[in-house]
Amino acid sequence: MRDARLTDEPARMAALERYQVLDTPAEPAFDRITQLVRAILGVPICAVSLIDNDRQWFKSHPGLDVSETPRGVAFCDHTIRDRIPMIVNDASADLRFSANPLVTGDPNIRSYAGVPLSTADGYNIGSLCAIDTVPRMFDPAQIAILENLGGLVVEQLELRRIADRDHLSGALTRRAFLAEIDKQISLFQRHQRPASLLLLDIDHFKQVNDTHGHPAGDVVIRAVAERCRQLKRPSDMFGRLGGEEFALLMPEAGAQEAGAAAQRFCDAIAALDIPHAPPLRVTASFGIADIGPDRTSSGAWLAAADAALYAAKHGGRNRVAIAKSDGAQPD
Ligand code: GH3
Ligand code: MG
Ligand code: MG
Repeated sequence: MRDARLTDEPARMAALERYQVLDTPAEPAFDRITQLVRAILGVPICAVSLIDNDRQWFKSHPGLDVSETPRGVAFCDHTIRDRIPMIVNDASADLRFSANPLVTGDPNIRSYAGVPLSTADGYNIGSLCAIDTVPRMFDPAQIAILENLGGLVVEQLELRRIADRDHLSGALTRRAFLAEIDKQISLFQRHQRPASLLLLDIDHFKQVNDTHGHPAGDVVIRAVAERCRQLKRPSDMFGRLGGEEFALLMPEAGAQEAGAAAQRFCDAIAALDIPHAPPLRVTASFGIADIGPDRTSSGAWLAAADAALYAAKHGGRNRVAIAKSDGAQPD
């Protein structure tokens, strides 16, 4: 019987999205693998191709000028429909590909060997492929090497994913979150894109630990993080900065919009019945700062949001405070 995971496109896309890899810059770990394929198989082109909804996007593509193509013309879209390597010895003599623009025009593909990139739970998110501009055969030893290197690509993606996630809450680690802040600062400096930073700190959390024990505290951290993930927009980045302090980076959101979102988070957290005997209730305080000319280092931007958080704590907790855009004291 055919493996249902090979045709379950929404589940395949969800598996790909877990890695947060599309449209990220080139990385040496992947370029090393594709260069090895070129050297060992003696091909001019090698690519790590990831199959997105309607395009193939290349994480690494030595020998190939473009960084993506429409999915409709992707050889790799055929590779991911099976569990075995796909080999095309002469594309111009293959009815599936002879009229393909990548065959009739640039980069003039004539031969292709691709292995599916399969996740541990069985979804093919893309392929590692070797491409030549002349017809050729690939011998079994070369295909075995390609399969092993394809395994390394998936392991590399998996390691990146684990390194960026906090194991208790599933949020981005502090290090990964700070990297996202730096990216957002670059976007602001180059294109004046607005963004807001929201800090969230659980109120009187030490009491939860002291009264109910550390494991109950962990349950609270997990429940608050899960609620935040449910409420955030897909484009918002959610990180755990430490202990019971979380942060949300909201691209394109001004301070007032972020403030309205924070109020929704604040109300939702206060309304949570956290599973415990008896169920636990907590509140959280929020500090918000939008990006601005005086907030173009992660330290300065975080300090502005932290000052607002401090004001929310002092104003009585379970509330939201917004830093003034000019860096003056929050309301
Ligand atoms: P405030 O309302 O001012 O934020 O008070 P608070 O009690 O929440 O703040 P405080 O910083 O005094 O206490 C934070 C506590 O969080 C202390 C620390 O032991 C606990 N903590 C930090 N990380 C974890 C964790 O991973 N699990 C658990 N259960 N507790 C943690
Ligand atoms: Mg706290
Ligand atoms: Mg704290």
